[in-house]
Amino acid sequence: MLSQATRVLLDGLNAGKRAALARAITLVESRNLDKFKQGQGLLSALLQQRRDGEATMFPKETIRLGISGPPGVGKSTFIEAFGTHLLKQGKRLAVLTIDPTSSLTGGSILGDKTRMPQLSADSRAFVRPSPSGGALGGVARSTSDAIVLCESVGYDVVLVETVGVGQNEVAVAGMVDLFMLLLPPAGGDELQGIKRGIMELSDLLVINKADGGLETVARQAQIEYTSALKLLRRRHQRWDPEVFAVSSLKGRGLDDVWAGVNRFYDHVGRDAVEHQRGLQYKEWMWRYVEDQLARHFKQHPPTRQKIADLEHRLMEQRITPGGAAEELLQSYFASSNFENPL
Ligand code: GDP
Repeated sequence: MLSQATRVLLDGLNAGKRAALARAITLVESRNLDKFKQGQGLLSALLQQRRDGEATMFPKETIRLGISGPPGVGKSTFIEAFGTHLLKQGKRLAVLTIDPTSSLTGGSILGDKTRMPQLSADSRAFVRPSPSGGALGGVARSTSDAIVLCESVGYDVVLVETVGVGQNEVAVAGMVDLFMLLLPPAGGDELQGIKRGIMELSDLLVINKADGGLETVARQAQIEYTSALKLLRRRHQRWDPEVFAVSSLKGRGLDDVWAGVNRFYDHVGRDAVEHQRGLQYKEWMWRYVEDQLARHFKQHPPTRQKIADLEHRLMEQRITPGGAAEELLQSYFASSNFENPL
């Protein structure tokens, strides 16, 4: 049974109200357990409605696109230009940004609305910086829920932006259909610096700033990346990653990238995309379970007492990590009512 407050929110989403969307995202981001549960109840109701084919604002087919790249590569310039291009094609666009720096430094590389002034001012677009504070895992998980909420009010393209700091790219790749890496116009030795793992996550590589004096270098980099990709593992059986050279500043090459995105869905197929979304949901469930179990474990009083002692012994290298873990788990199971599986 939905509470009255959740029902009001659900009606707001079904009417396509942006204010309801903003409130619903705040709920799924909440660290307050009651609010969190309310948010999950709301999401379940939405998914149920969609499955039952009830009239909702859910677009028939949606695009979930992840974008990453090092600071300064031109992500906000690209998203602004690419997004404006999409709006002209009649699409509705939501941009969610995950900014891992904001929780560490209190400052922010990405989470600033003014980075995309044109999109932020357009009623057909929705720009939402992710909240600062909290572990990356927590922020990323709520972003996965926020994607569905954006779709529920009619955004048919959801773009999730993150900055290139490794671990968060993996999290974003785990919640989108295709992953795009933005790269600076440099080839040769600098190409080595791009982590292989991140390249392997990418379905589209976009070399930005292919204009002025950098255009030749960018074209050369495009050739080099194209051959480098051949040596890497593919993320999808039915998709060979593509490389583009664009100028976000001059708005050149953006239609090629959009065509690449559509080709991806054509080649991979909607059924496979839906299947992948299901697999991603399974992954996220286990992340929740693992996080909650670890939290419970660490807060369990008898275990807590032991942790300090074991950590001390680990620091002095008097005990191995495996031995310490074993001891902790034994004491946890000995003091709880569960059957000891070890
Ligand atoms: P972000 O940190 O990745 O979001 O990068 P920004 O979008 O803020 O861009 C960083 C700098 O690169 C800015 O000075 C932009 O004007 C510039 N820039 C972005 N795209 C292009 C482009 O296509 N060509 C050129 N020449 N400069 C660009």
